[in-house]
This record gives sequence, C-alpha cells and structure tokens, in this order.
Amino acid sequence: QEGKNRYYLFDMEQDIALKSQHEQLIRISDALQNNEFVMHYQPKVNMKTGELLGAEALIRWQHPERGLLPPITFLPIIDRHQLNIDLGEWVIESALSQIAMWRQQGVDIEVSVNIDVQQLQQKTFAKRLGELLQMHSDVPPHLLQLEVLETSELQDIENVANIMQSCTELGVGFALDDFGTGYCSLTYLKRLPVNLIKIDQSFILGMLDDPDDLSIVEGVLGLSKAFQRDVIAEGVETLAHGVALLRLGCCYAQGYGIARPMPAEDMLPWTKTWKPDPAWSKVSMDKRH
Ligand code: C2E
Ligand code: MG
Ligand code: MG
Ligand code: MG
Repeated sequence: QEGKNRYYLFDMEQDIALKSQHEQLIRISDALQNNEFVMHYQPKVNMKTGELLGAEALIRWQHPERGLLPPITFLPIIDRHQLNIDLGEWVIESALSQIAMWRQQGVDIEVSVNIDVQQLQQKTFAKRLGELLQMHSDVPPHLLQLEVLETSELQDIENVANIMQSCTELGVGFALDDFGTGYCSLTYLKRLPVNLIKIDQSFILGMLDDPDDLSIVEGVLGLSKAFQRDVIAEGVETLAHGVALLRLGCCYAQGYGIARPMPAEDMLPWTKTWKPDPAWSKVSMDKRH
C-alpha cells in the first residue's frame, strides 16, 4: 500500500490488536443475529406533577458469559463500521415494537432512542425511518423521539438540518442530547429542528457544589426559554438536585434519583407506583425560565 521499494517489520502487537478488533466485530455481529441485545428504559418525569413524559431507550448486551454489558463496552468498537448502522436500525425497530406493546396494554409511552451521528448523516436515513414507521403503522410517529448528540461530528450542519427536517415531517421529534458539552451548542440550537434540550448530566451532577456548573444550568434554562424549546435535566441523582432544579424552574428530569434504566417489563409497574417526593411539590418555582 505504501508503494514499492519499502518493507516493514511485521508488527506482532499491532496484528493482535487488529485481529482482536476484527474478532470483536464478528462477535458483535453474531450477537445481533442471536438477539443478545436488549433495550432498557429510563423514565423521564415531571417532578412537580409526577407525570411521565416518556422513557429513554438505552441499549445493553446480554452477554452469555460476561453478563449485562453497558454500551460503552461495545459501541466504540463498531464506531464507523456498517455494524453501527445495522445496530442503530435494530434499536429503532426494537423501540417501535416496544411502543406498540405498551399501546396494546393501554398506555402510550413516548420513547426516545439515541441516534449515532454517523447513522443520522446517511443519505437514506429519513427514507429508512419512514419505512420502519410504515411497518409499525400501529405506532403514532409522535411517540418516537430521536436523541442526537451535540458533537463536532455533525459536520455538515445544513445537511443534518435537512435530514432532521424530513424526519420531523414524518412526525417524529428530536432531542439535543448532552447539551453544553460540544463546541457549537448555540449554532445547533439555532439551526436544528429540536423539540427538547437535554442538559448534560455533568452540569447537573456538579450544580450543588460548583457555581460554574450552576451558572451553566441557569444559562441553558434561559436559552431554552428564549428558543421556546422544552428542557430536561439528565443525571438527577438525588432529592436535592431535584429541589435545586425546581427552584430554577426546571421540572423535567431523568436520573438515578427518579429511576435507573430498567427492563421494559418493569416500566408499567413502575409508573403505577412511583410518586414524586413530597418535598418537590412544595418548592415554589422561579417563573423566569
Ligand atoms: P446518554 O444518551 O446521555 O444516556 C444517559 C446515560 O446516563 C445512560 O448511560 C444512563 O444509564 C446514565 N444515567 C442516567 N441517569 C443517571 C444518573 O443519575 N447518574 C449517572 N451518573 N448516570 C445516569 P448508559 O445506558 O450507559 O449509556 C451511555 C451512553 O451510550 C448514552 O448516553 C448514549 O450516548 C449511548 N447509548 C446508549 N444506548 C444507545 C443506543 O441504543 N444507540 C446509540 N447510538 N447510543 C446509545
Ligand atoms: Mg440520550
Ligand atoms: Mg445524555
Ligand atoms: Mg451521554
């Protein structure tokens, strides 16, 4: 590949690394075939009213030997491979089936799925999404929301905005995930058709101790108000985080303090028993946001 008149010493270590990545890809591909992936669902709630806004679908690998694996252990391996696109499609499909199942049980739950930017930027993305929605004609498209990471990999913003617009016309909504961690947050907010902003959990986790994090949270709440977008806090781990957010006028939340991601079958029982903490309903909210 480097041209003639060259030779390289065979690099054993590199070979092992490559080989094992190749093997890992094959293993993940098999796992997809064998139905070893499962979605867990984490509730998104209104802390003030106790109302369920929806649930975020989060992928897990039920590995036969290693147990339940979080996405960080396998998503990076398939980054930039076709398998990433295939798995992404499986995730949407799985979420649509789940929405349909909950509907059969008499409950409409809006489900948000995380979409890889590589997948979103495929020319055929909107068309394929339309086909999946048609295959699930029992699911109203507004029950599906796509979470897009606010990342520098959204290179051609015009193109991404067009793709998102086509999806919006199909009836699905968009959320801007991990908001505040990227380099172009404000540009994305201005240019992309998103309904919901998700304040990155790092700012929420820090807001009780770090005045800078608190300022960022206040800033994002102000922005979302100015742009007339809904806003939700991720990483609400404790009662106190909830109280602080409510004081700032933010009532939508997701986090371990409300519920951990759970298997689909646990969702309906959870919604029937969960009540917001009484301390939350007492907080008088700042109406500026
Ligand atoms: P994310 O979309 O920002 O999802 C939130 C992550 O934070 C989830 O981790 C969730 O379990 C975790 N989390 C929720 N509440 C709390 C909390 O109160 N405290 C803390 N410390 N963490 C909390 P998870 O499931 O490991 O997912 C990590 C990331 O992997 C997700 O971040 C998302 O970017 C990606 N991901 C997950 N599922 C999928 C998928 O199906 N497709 C794609 N493309 N990416 C996915
Ligand atoms: Mg997300
Ligand atoms: Mg997030
Ligand atoms: Mg994240």
